[in-house]
Amino acid sequence: MALLNHRLTNEEYDKHFSDIHPPFETRNAALVEANRCLFCYDAPCTKSCPTSIDVPKFIKQITTGNLKGAAYTIFSANIMGGGCSKVCPVEKLCEGACVYNLMEEAPIPIAKLQRYATEPAIHEQWPLFTRQPSNGKKVAVVGAGPAGLSCAHALSRAGVDVTIYEKESKGGGLMTYGIAAYKVTPQFCQEEVDYITSIGGIDILYNMQLGKDVSLATLQQQYDAVYLAYGVGLARQLSIDGEQLEGVVDAIRFIYEIRTKGYPEVPVGESVAVIGMGMTAIDAATQAKRLGAKEVTLVYRRTAAEMPCTQAELDIAKLDGCDIIWLAAPKEITGENGQVKTLVCEVMKLDEKKSPVGTGELITLNVDMVIKATGQLPYMVASPDIDNDQGRVLINEQGATSLPGVFAGGDCVNGGKEVVDAVQAGKEGAKAIMEYLFEK
Ligand code: SF4
Repeated sequence: MALLNHRLTNEEYDKHFSDIHPPFETRNAALVEANRCLFCYDAPCTKSCPTSIDVPKFIKQITTGNLKGAAYTIFSANIMGGGCSKVCPVEKLCEGACVYNLMEEAPIPIAKLQRYATEPAIHEQWPLFTRQPSNGKKVAVVGAGPAGLSCAHALSRAGVDVTIYEKESKGGGLMTYGIAAYKVTPQFCQEEVDYITSIGGIDILYNMQLGKDVSLATLQQQYDAVYLAYGVGLARQLSIDGEQLEGVVDAIRFIYEIRTKGYPEVPVGESVAVIGMGMTAIDAATQAKRLGAKEVTLVYRRTAAEMPCTQAELDIAKLDGCDIIWLAAPKEITGENGQVKTLVCEVMKLDEKKSPVGTGELITLNVDMVIKATGQLPYMVASPDIDNDQGRVLINEQGATSLPGVFAGGDCVNGGKEVVDAVQAGKEGAKAIMEYLFEK
């Protein structure tokens, strides 16, 4: 057994990584679904969206053929409404709240309708927003991910000149580098970044890392305010023997390589264990299978009732042929000639507080690759002077950090949530910065 790349033909890679949620094939198909909407008063779908997209309004606009109006409704609330239509866990957000669930009927396919309205706007770069004349204020945004882009767009609309400092060579953050390619392609992510910046007044400086290529002190001196949105980045370690063996990789790194190198170039084992049961674990497991691994086993120390991923995500992993071992925690990774040979797990049980407790019983999996997906830790790159809680930047109710003129939002504050939460954080950050700039 060994890690190998080029396990499949190009045709097989293309098939395995094609769009998992294809769009409506015809306009009529979209209209049939849109016309099922009951246009609820005080719509629960809108209330369950972190960005409060007016769902009944944009669906109504679709039914009347007003696609530009629908796109504007969506983007006004969520400038990454295109990407979110592909990656949001809608079964626990808008679609999960749709009243049709109470009638035991299929909910309105809100994400698919959202995609129907936003995709042409992004592909064709519809100029739906105009920027206010420049008001002379300059803001630096650190990170061109969902929170940073959302904040930058809102500020630019209000006439602020924004410069984004991005450590990677592309924008989009987690959307571009950390999500399975069969949900959203790198090409779409690039188009979405281009669309957001097409409003003007947003300059992205790539390959510029805070703390390495530019300091926070410099940004504070050169700009009227700073917004920190650099996300999280350190993979949580297992802290068990064998973790340094060849074949043990971080899920985030694994997905990053798939996104940046291309499918054939990324080595994958024949028999892979993925530790964790969050969305990143599922994305890593399904992509390992789709890269050509023969067996993929997800290992989780609790039960399905406690898993962080949604049932829909778990179903994708099952449909891809991934096995699941519940109530098992990694104990040791053994190797041969420096390469992973087995993953030893301890069987767990849950105590009365649903915390996993070891039973002493061991199980051994013969694997040649172990992918760690047990979460990410925030890391403090801004400044040691900024108030933080184990790396998570602390902000007050106005979104301000402990440093004057420095605001923060998104994953570097909350430790890692959904893309849609980061977009909302960016909007709130922009509002707080505007108040700061024009009331000080
Ligand atoms: Fe339409 Fe469902 Fe939202 Fe009601 S809850 S407005 S039916 S999408």
